[in-house]
Amino acid sequence: MAVVDVTHRLGLVVDELVEIDPSELSDPVMAEELLAVRAEMDRLEAVFAGLAHAGHVRGVGSVDGAASTAAWLRHRAGMREGDAKAAIQCGAVCELLPAVDRAWRDGEISTGAVRVIAEARVKGFDDELQGSERAFLTLARAKDMHGLRAAVAHFRNLARRDGKKPRNLDGLHVSQTFGGRTALRGDLSDVDGETVTTALHAYTDPPSLDDPLPSSARMAAALVRICEVALAHLGDESRPTAHVNVVVDWETLTEGRLGRTDGVFTGPINVDDVRRLLCDCSVSRVLTGPRGEVLDVGRSRRTVPPPMRRALVVRDDGCRFPGCNRPSGWCDAHHVVHWSAGGPTVLDNLVLLCDRHHHVVHEPGWLAKFDGEALRVLRPDGTEVM
Ligand SMILES: [Zn+2]
Ligand SMILES: [Zn+2]
Repeated sequence: MAVVDVTHRLGLVVDELVEIDPSELSDPVMAEELLAVRAEMDRLEAVFAGLAHAGHVRGVGSVDGAASTAAWLRHRAGMREGDAKAAIQCGAVCELLPAVDRAWRDGEISTGAVRVIAEARVKGFDDELQGSERAFLTLARAKDMHGLRAAVAHFRNLARRDGKKPRNLDGLHVSQTFGGRTALRGDLSDVDGETVTTALHAYTDPPSLDDPLPSSARMAAALVRICEVALAHLGDESRPTAHVNVVVDWETLTEGRLGRTDGVFTGPINVDDVRRLLCDCSVSRVLTGPRGEVLDVGRSRRTVPPPMRRALVVRDDGCRFPGCNRPSGWCDAHHVVHWSAGGPTVLDNLVLLCDRHHHVVHEPGWLAKFDGEALRVLRPDGTEVM
C-alpha cells in the first residue's frame, strides 16, 4: 500500500472530523471524543517522529539547503523549531527503545511521556537506558507523569555518577537596586535547593486572615529571620544539625538501582550527595510494600552517635583534609567506607571533614584512605593530595 494513498485516506477522515460541531455533542460524548482525538493525535505524532528521525539521518532537508532538519521543518512546515527537534529526538530514542516505540504507535502512551523518556538519554549510557525501558514504560502506561519525570531524573543522576559532573551552575547574586532595595537571584543544585527550601518553609508563617501578606512577602521575612538566627550563632563551635528530609530506596543506595533519592521539596537528588548526607545524620528505616504502603517504621538513630562524635572531635580537632584547618564545628563525620557499603561506625573508619572537603571526597573518582591515624586523599587520576 503506497504511503501517499494512506495519507490521502487519512485526510478524508479528518475532513469529516473537522466538520463536527462541538455544540451538538453531549457532555459524556464530548469527553470521550476529546480523549479519542488526543489518542489518535499521539499515534500520528509517533509516525511523524519516526519519519522526522529517518529524514534527519538521511538529510532530506539538504535538498533545500537547510542548515538542519529542524530548521527545514520550521521553514517548510511552519513548526516551532523546538517541537521539530523534540520530534527528531523522540524518533531517535524510539529506535533505541522498541517497546516504547510500539506502545506509542499503539496509542498506549502519550507523546508527552515519550518526550520525557527521550530526555533520559545521556551520552554513553544507551545500554543502561535500554535496561530501564520497562520501568519507564510501566509509568508511562499508568499515565503517572510525575513518577515518570522523577524516574528520568533519577536515571540522569545515576548516569552522571560515572561520567563527568554537570557544570556547576550554583550561584547567588545580591545586588543593590534603586531606592535602597536589595535584589536576590540564585540558582542551586538539588541537594542545596532542598536545604534552602526546607529552611524557608520552616520559618515561613502560614497565611492567616488578619495577615494579608502574599506568600512571597512571608518567605522574604522568613529569609531575614533565618539570617538573624544564623548570625546569632556565628562563631559558635557547637555544630548545628540541619534537618533536611530525604527518602532513599535501599537498593538505589547500595546497588545503584533505579529508585528514589528524593528531597521532600525538590524531588530527585544526586545519589553521591545523598551518600554524603548519610555519612553523618539521623536515619529512620521505613519498610514499604509493593504499592508503596508503609509496613513498618523503625526508630530513627544517628549514624554517628553523639559520644563517638565527641571522641572524634578530641582526636581530629577539625577538618583532616590535607592543608585544611577549619574547626570541628564546621565538620561532618565522614565514613571512610560508607556504612551502606558495610563500613562500620567505629573511630578507625571515621574522620572529620569540613563541608567543602566532605563534598570533595564524595565526588566520583576521589578516594579517601584512613588507617586510623593518617588520612590520604587520592585524586581521580591516582595522584595524592599533599
Ligand atoms: Zn562522607
Ligand atoms: Zn576541610
